[in-house]
Amino acid sequence: MISAQDALERLREGNRRFAAGVTNLDPLIMRTRRNELIGGQAPFATILGCSDSRVPVEMVFDQNMGDLFVIRVAGNIVASSQVGSVEFAAERFNSRLVVVLGHSRCSAVTATLEELQRPTNSQSRNLRSIVDRIRPSVEEFLAPELKHEPEELMRHAVRANVRASVNHLRHGSEILEQLIHNHGLLVVGAEYSLETGGVDFFDGAPG
Ligand SMILES: [Zn+2]
Repeated sequence: MISAQDALERLREGNRRFAAGVTNLDPLIMRTRRNELIGGQAPFATILGCSDSRVPVEMVFDQNMGDLFVIRVAGNIVASSQVGSVEFAAERFNSRLVVVLGHSRCSAVTATLEELQRPTNSQSRNLRSIVDRIRPSVEEFLAPELKHEPEELMRHAVRANVRASVNHLRHGSEILEQLIHNHGLLVVGAEYSLETGGVDFFDGAPG
């Protein structure tokens, strides 16, 4: 089993490669790995990321197939099925690190802010369920002083939304709580920058 700290270091190194435009992967390595994985998997980290096409998780961390257990949903929100997926990876595969990965210019966060500023009833019930998950964590940033600074507003809102998901995973499941307290499970928040390609771990990640 790979400890949370070692897993985090692997992700940091992989992202440094990605941001620098280099990779450890080549088609031959991938083919070998594909064959090795037929019999089973042992992903060393679980990533809850946004569905955004600009944030492909394995690429961003320069990891191969079999390395990461990835859950992607617009706005990296946490509902029951996401909690269940994280529990599954932690229990079944002993994945000890969970990363909630938000990103700059997240369209789901933008849509939520727009909805708060100019409410419409045009969203489907299903889409609304995503906006409603994001809403509580970004509402406070609509204070008058930030309203006119859209970039600042987005920056705060993206991070608050990541923190809310981290918090939900840390406290919304008895199984995960028990793994955190007794078995070294670590849940951290991170933000990917579309601008630099870098990932900043900012919530609960040891230096
Ligand atoms: Zn997004």
